[in-house]
Parts: sequence; C-alpha cells; structure tokens
Amino acid sequence: MTLWQYAIGLLLVLATLAATVVTVPLLVHERARHDHGPTCRWCRPRPGRR
Ligand SMILES: [Zn+2]
Repeated sequence: MTLWQYAIGLLLVLATLAATVVTVPLLVHERARHDHGPTCRWCRPRPGRR
C-alpha cells in the first residue's frame, strides 16, 4: 500500500517540522540569558487570560 507509506511519511515529516518549530525558539531562549521582558511567555508562565 503505497498510500499508507505516503501518509506515514507525511506524518513523520510534519511531526519533525513541528518538533523543530517548537525546539528552535526554546534553544534560542535558553542561550539568551538576559531578561526578555513581560512579553516572553517562557519566562512568565501565563500572564492570565483576557
Ligand atoms: Zn524568556
């Protein structure tokens, strides 16, 4: 079934892209030790819903 292989491959590629998109900002944030201000959502857990 080539279609299943294509679907699984596509899911793997999408998962890899999603992991990369999430990981890169985290790595950049970890390397930057300075204060990011109130807009950084990793320094501050959640400012609260509006
Ligand atoms: Zn930060």
